[in-house]
Amino acid sequence: MWCPSCDKPTQVTDTRKYRDITGTFDFVHRQRVCRECDHRFLSIEIPQEVWDKHYKLPKKYRQDEQDS
Ligand SMILES: [Zn+2]
Repeated sequence: MWCPSCDKPTQVTDTRKYRDITGTFDFVHRQRVCRECDHRFLSIEIPQEVWDKHYKLPKKYRQDEQDS
């Protein structure tokens, strides 16, 4: 994953697996740090089908993809 600040490669400093609050799926939480600018951020990885079902924004809020 690339740094959102400077677009350089980042390093994972911590990885944790969590169960979501409703207990229906697991997601992965990673802390990352940029080697170049020391920018710290985190990423959360959830299953694609969970995203599609529960989190995907209505089309009117999306700019980067089209429904096919
Ligand atoms: Zn950076």
